[in-house]
Amino acid sequence: MKGLVKANAHLARSGTDYQTKRIAEVTVQCSCGCGQDFQRPSGAVNAHGPNYISLEHMGRHRTQIYLEDMCGSFLSVIKEYLDGFCRQHYKNQGTIRAAVCPFILFLNERGITDLENVTPKTVTEFISWATEVDYKSSPQHISVLNGFFKWALRHGHRKSGSPVIAKFHGKKRAQHLPRPYTAEEMTIIWALAEERGNSRLRAIIAIGEESGLRLGEICRLREEDVDLVGHRLFVRLPNKTDCERWAPFSDKTARYILEWRSERDDKCGHDFLFHNSLGDPPRADTMHRELCRTFCKIHGGTQVNPSGLDEWSTHRLRHTMASRLASGGASFPTIMAAGGWKSPSSMMHYTKVDADQARHGYDQAMRRAEEKSKTGRSKHILSPGDFLAAYGENA
Ligand SMILES: [Zn+2]
Repeated sequence: MKGLVKANAHLARSGTDYQTKRIAEVTVQCSCGCGQDFQRPSGAVNAHGPNYISLEHMGRHRTQIYLEDMCGSFLSVIKEYLDGFCRQHYKNQGTIRAAVCPFILFLNERGITDLENVTPKTVTEFISWATEVDYKSSPQHISVLNGFFKWALRHGHRKSGSPVIAKFHGKKRAQHLPRPYTAEEMTIIWALAEERGNSRLRAIIAIGEESGLRLGEICRLREEDVDLVGHRLFVRLPNKTDCERWAPFSDKTARYILEWRSERDDKCGHDFLFHNSLGDPPRADTMHRELCRTFCKIHGGTQVNPSGLDEWSTHRLRHTMASRLASGGASFPTIMAAGGWKSPSSMMHYTKVDADQARHGYDQAMRRAEEKSKTGRSKHILSPGDFLAAYGENA
């Protein structure tokens, strides 16, 4: 019995006492290698496999086994990379392991024992190998591999630059078009929210529609983050872009937040703005399921409502907010600040400008430029080429 040190002796001997035997605890050593003993009911001991003192120890041990299996002679370099640089620079260690370790396994299988011998051709071969043997997520994160080689160069594990050529090895990601809900869809959503929803869901929809918060950000809102006077929400860390912001809203959201607050259980014992039906802090995944059950016809393969949407996405409310601001004539900096986007290009994934609106904006800008040139306030009109050169992707 691996990891089992000693059965709790006096309980084991009193074999006639059925009750005692049932709750008998044994002392087991944690299989992760930490050397700690712990008590566990004898029936719960895994006789043929590992026993762990906690899930954390199990996770740590499984990671260790994974790294040993994948990395071979590169184990110490990879551990230095993961435990040092990655811990400081990346949020999700699992993604980094899944991106780098299959590549190291590939090197081991090809008999490459020195990072110095990795060439761009090796990387190309790895990409087709990874797709064949089903390490598909690794080539998707080829930029992580690039980062690994840059780290290796700086830390003396390789003398030449990164063999990953972003433009060549990087896979072009499909560009998803912005998918705001149409005005008709929003009408249906609000009708359903009134009919089938509750005050919590209505407040969440309003915040999504007017402030563009991600569902996770909505779930993390605290009571003190709501500024009903200034009509804004404080979006705290952690969030996707690691950037705190104030997200504005209008009367509608204020009204629905007040409606929710009148029903919020003040004795729930925490200060999250929302809580679930048991009073616990909300979780994005369960909240998403509740939204699906409210708005969709089919959820999880079963018909849950006689009518409704085909699918639900809280994130599309974020698209809706950005597109609505754009059609209202808001400037790029305004939209970026409202949604917490760090670059115009990331914002553009959300902002749908329809053909009429683009025409209108174009005509207005042309008219303004013409007026300026007539009044002599603008000395110089940029040609399209000059304009793009001056403003690049910010244009
Ligand atoms: Zn342990």
